[in-house]
Amino acid sequence: MSIMVPSKTPALITPGQQALDSALHQLHQAAEHLGLDDGLRTMLATPRRSLTVSVPVRREDGRLDVVQGFRVQHNVSRGPAKGGIRFHPGTDIHEVTALAMWMTWKCALVGIPYGGAKGGVAVDPATLTVREQERLTRRYVNEILPLIGPEKDIPAPDVGTDEQTMAWIMDTYSVSAGYSVPGVVTGKPMTLGGSLGRAGATSRGVQIATLAALGRSPEGVGVAVQGFGKVGALAAQYLSDAGCKVVAVSDVGGAVHAAGGLDVSRLRAHAAEHGSVRGYPHADELPLDDLLELDVDVLVPAALEGAITEANAPRVRARLIVEGANGPLTPEADEIVNASGATVVPDILANAGGVIVSYLEWVQNMQAYSWSSGEVELKLRDLMENAFAEVRSLAGARGLTLRQAAHVIGVGRVAEAHQMRGLYP
Ligand code: GLU
Repeated sequence: MSIMVPSKTPALITPGQQALDSALHQLHQAAEHLGLDDGLRTMLATPRRSLTVSVPVRREDGRLDVVQGFRVQHNVSRGPAKGGIRFHPGTDIHEVTALAMWMTWKCALVGIPYGGAKGGVAVDPATLTVREQERLTRRYVNEILPLIGPEKDIPAPDVGTDEQTMAWIMDTYSVSAGYSVPGVVTGKPMTLGGSLGRAGATSRGVQIATLAALGRSPEGVGVAVQGFGKVGALAAQYLSDAGCKVVAVSDVGGAVHAAGGLDVSRLRAHAAEHGSVRGYPHADELPLDDLLELDVDVLVPAALEGAITEANAPRVRARLIVEGANGPLTPEADEIVNASGATVVPDILANAGGVIVSYLEWVQNMQAYSWSSGEVELKLRDLMENAFAEVRSLAGARGLTLRQAAHVIGVGRVAEAHQMRGLYP
């Protein structure tokens, strides 16, 4: 018997549901192309494990707040589950499931031996003191403890979390194990087994992907970056270091524009001091939404999902869009910009640098050994450039967009792993 609960409010699609719709749409397209059967499609469309927890947090004034937390393991056929933990007020189980699915394809695409996972806590970390953040992190980790471990599921930073959060996770897990387990989490501080090159890895990967997609000298190429956080700020820096002219950047506080190019180092110093790029004295202010519609060569959306939808996609003028964030274009937006002749380097390729160096960090931890920054950078570049070349060649051979080709490769490898392993029992 099913119970119907009448809804008093019109059905609203949350950003999380929108993200999951996008992920399922991309999977469906790849599965069609690969000719996968219905059973396998359903396996790939559904997470293997999904946990929702209630996390009680004692606030500084003695109050008790309870927030929702999630950990989703979408797939573990190719190795342990891997993926970040996000602290964001808008996160929900749908968003975390979509992000976990993208992690599965991303790891398969770049050829690292992981499945995909993601975690989330529906909270705005900016409203918490550092001690509240620590209590929240430790309690959340305690709630998901049975799921994680260096051979099972390895978290990492994502939106709203950083290396301090990872240090607390490592400590909470290690205290419970009774000994130090650095390999349970990546993106750790160097003193706890972090890897050289991990902090800037996603941005370095964005730079590598952008230069590969440009296929010409980056000198003077105009770039706009949406999001000036962990990924966007360093992506702007590295693109500027490579010779590009970064003309505009934005964060939640505002957007700034300088037609002659921004001095990204100075801008980063301003943002670090004032908490936003807003008010940077050597540039003009720009309405936030205008950044995505600037007449630039390259647009790097490096904030959240759903930044470009069917509403603003027709006004996007960049000829190359490199997805620093996960899921910044909805499928409708993707279709519109592709039809306009623009090229999109998809998230599972463009931002894979983060998880690649996470993998390198984990390998170093498992061997109790550490590599030089040169070695890490070389391995990152190799994996990124190989993946890019494979995607471009498949797209060319089959008449696919880079996103479709990337999904065909990622989904195809996971499907093959399922078929080779067979089904238990
Ligand atoms: N959160 C990052 C991503 O979306 C990194 C994940 C990881 O390093 O495991 O790719």
